[in-house]
Amino acid sequence: MAENTDILIIGAGISGVGFAIPLKSDNIGGTWWTNSYPGCGCDVPSHFLPYSFALKPDWSRRFARRSEIHQYFTNIAAQYDIHKHVRLASLVEKASWDGITGMWNITILISAVGTLSVPRECTIPGASSFPGKIFHTAQWDHTFNWKDKELVVVGNGCSATQIIPEITSGPGAARMVTQFCRQAHWLAERPNPEYSAFFKWTMNWIPLAMRIYRAKLYWNQERDFAGYDIETGAEIRRGWSMGAAEYIRTNAPAHYRDFLVPKTEIGCKRRVNDTGYLACLHRNNVNLIYDDPVEAIVSNGVRTRAGKIVHADAIVLAQGFETQRPFGSLQIFGEGGVSIHDHWTQISEGVPSAYLGTCLSEFPNFFIMMGPNTLSGHLSVIYTTECQINFALRVIRPVLNAMGTGTWALTIGRPICDIVLVKRTAEQEDIDTATGCTSWFIDRSTKRNSIMFPDWQYKFWLRSVFISWDDFNYKTSQQFNEKIPELVLEVMRSAALKLRNILLQLSSNFEKRDEATTLSGYQCSSWPKRWEVRS
Ligand SMILES: Cc1cc2nc3c(=O)[nH]c(=O)nc-3n(C[C@H](O)[C@H](O)[C@H](O)COP(=O)(O)OP(=O)(O)OC[C@H]3O[C@@H](n4cnc5c(N)ncnc54)[C@H](O)[C@@H]3O)c2cc1C
Repeated sequence: MAENTDILIIGAGISGVGFAIPLKSDNIGGTWWTNSYPGCGCDVPSHFLPYSFALKPDWSRRFARRSEIHQYFTNIAAQYDIHKHVRLASLVEKASWDGITGMWNITILISAVGTLSVPRECTIPGASSFPGKIFHTAQWDHTFNWKDKELVVVGNGCSATQIIPEITSGPGAARMVTQFCRQAHWLAERPNPEYSAFFKWTMNWIPLAMRIYRAKLYWNQERDFAGYDIETGAEIRRGWSMGAAEYIRTNAPAHYRDFLVPKTEIGCKRRVNDTGYLACLHRNNVNLIYDDPVEAIVSNGVRTRAGKIVHADAIVLAQGFETQRPFGSLQIFGEGGVSIHDHWTQISEGVPSAYLGTCLSEFPNFFIMMGPNTLSGHLSVIYTTECQINFALRVIRPVLNAMGTGTWALTIGRPICDIVLVKRTAEQEDIDTATGCTSWFIDRSTKRNSIMFPDWQYKFWLRSVFISWDDFNYKTSQQFNEKIPELVLEVMRSAALKLRNILLQLSSNFEKRDEATTLSGYQCSSWPKRWEVRS
């Protein structure tokens, strides 16, 4: 990667790669690379996972496994030649805005570090002196063979419910898995059939079939939002909880039923798909402990509050991620050296927030993918990320143009400048002050929701398309001002070239009319190089 980078994207998960593709500029894949635990897979339908510009017709099953998802993102990165722009295994520690040059040393900074990428630290006393294996689900130790071993799993979210059915069945099954959990999750029935050859053929060959199927999946998921409105959704939620409670009661072993039907209101936490978890609780090698929590890790396993020792060869930490520390150890300083955390202290009681989850006043030319209040409880993160990418590219287009990497024509009426900044008032008006029940998306001290987008997802898309331009300030740096005469000439030169190409294309089209030759988008490749890859 060149040292004189113009646009720096921190993170090479789906947000980072997705951002790099339209700019075209060890491993990629983020979540889908690091989470390699047995049974890892998605909880939104496979056909709703891909980027909208790169659909995949041949998903093997309704909810794909991690390896297939990772392969998809790897293929897409290869297809768009993203790898050469990625510096793997490199941690960005700090980024500071320079007010004089109007730059971050690079010009544009994109944070694509994810929200579920920093494993929650293990705070159970004794962890550091455990002689056996101890690892987080996102750091699965593949040197450990669980066959005939005893394991303790701490936690009962999505990861734990995917892992336990896998490691407790078949010839390689663990001898005993003891799971500790505090609060039950609402489990949703989730059959996962394989797609037939005919279905894949239809997706591949029937025009628009895949788009229509995706639209149907979108509708199925999106309409669920009606149930999340605190008042008007009460009846819908009652129906959901009755259905889910019956499902749990029917499928769980009798001695766990009372615990497994949650006492919390449905919709408070994202529902957990049942990937064979309830069925596996019937196995002799699975033990669920919900009323006697782990108090310490000891030399041969864990000790519970009641003083019971549960033997363990390995301890799996399925406790989720540091969701309230959005950038992990990464430090970012904006105008006047203000840190993001100080910014949030002034704006939102220290709780992460952002304009459309993406922009912060005081942090010019900076965009956060999967930022505060962007996740959805009912739809896919990939959908949101793509909206954010499109939003950021629109907002930043004048800056890209100034760098000579954009399409001038699309910014008519916008100034040519090298700095874009959301206004503080606009950012403040966009802060979500809603609160809710205890969950990983609620800040414990302020009870503010810092993670979820509390509205219909189509509204998120609308806001990413119809931008309130008045909410932004476009400025020029001192350095840029000096370059303006040069840039004006460049614009005129580009416009003249473009006009010439259009005229040439029109005349060649006219000449070839009798041969019924159609113009192809690929003819753009004959344009000067800087036009090849934009928009
Ligand atoms: C087990 C699991 C299952 C999930 N299932 C689904 C699902 O079914 N549907 C769904 O929509 N969402 C799901 N999610 C949410 C998931 O996080 C998103 O789908 C998506 O993968 C997020 O992509 P991302 O690129 O924004 O972030 P990530 O995938 O988290 O990628 C961020 C990358 O940035 C890197 N990074 C972080 N800090 C730095 C730094 N300072 N310097 C350099 N690099 C850094 C990280 O190491 C990581 O590689 C799941 C998450 C998990 C953990």
